[in-house]
Amino acid sequence: MSSKGDFTRQSFLGPNSENVLADVRVALVGLGGGGSQIAQQLAHVGVGHYRLLDPQAIEESNLNRLVGATQNDVDRGTAKVEIVQRTILGIRPWATVEAVQEKWQDATYLLRDAHVMFGCVDGFQQREALERAARRFCIPYIDIGMDVIEVAQGNFAISGQMIMTRPGRPCLRCLGFLNSQNLSQEENRYGDAGINPQVVWTNGTLASLAVGAFIRLIAPWSNFKDDFTWLELDGNNQTVTPSPRPAYEPIPGLCPHHGGPDGVGDPFFSL
Ligand SMILES: [Zn+2]
Repeated sequence: MSSKGDFTRQSFLGPNSENVLADVRVALVGLGGGGSQIAQQLAHVGVGHYRLLDPQAIEESNLNRLVGATQNDVDRGTAKVEIVQRTILGIRPWATVEAVQEKWQDATYLLRDAHVMFGCVDGFQQREALERAARRFCIPYIDIGMDVIEVAQGNFAISGQMIMTRPGRPCLRCLGFLNSQNLSQEENRYGDAGINPQVVWTNGTLASLAVGAFIRLIAPWSNFKDDFTWLELDGNNQTVTPSPRPAYEPIPGLCPHHGGPDGVGDPFFSL
């Protein structure tokens, strides 16, 4: 057993994997239902360095899904980043956590040298901007999100997705996940099931898929070569399948957005 803990049950991740994971820097943007579960799992897996960004404090309505939060946090109005920091340090006291209760756009210095960025935000515009930052800083981006729509009166369909994109490879726009139509939609639309419906078990499934994608990127065990991952969750039937929708056709030029494969990305994000 190392000073970091006993990782024998996940030693199949590869020789030295616990040191690799302990050295990894992850940035998590959005510490609600999805982000809190991703952070919790990353701590169990043994990731060593965290940057947590979310401007919000917990509200009563978050307690249905924010893992690690308590009624006392609601009473005190604890910052979400503080709750997640407590969760991480409770599991791995040796981890370093920089928790900032700010909009990520005001703290991009925390994203710059991350190895992987997780986006758990609402709305397409936020995702587009976050991926642009990830491209600028040359780091893979892992995005999760869920939605609930009313398919018939009183009949709801729960869906979600986990998408991993990497610098130079197809982006969310290449894949067709983002397009001019959904980017022009309102950030926080009032959907059929209220504002941004979220439930803990769907968040949990998507968080697990995100951590799985992260492990495939990072662990020495993995021989991961895919250009991207796009998994879709059918929350009613409880199935997860590769999206049939990628609009991307592999071309030598790879992603033409974000300044192209040799581009420097959006100079809004200073390096
Ligand atoms: Zn692209």
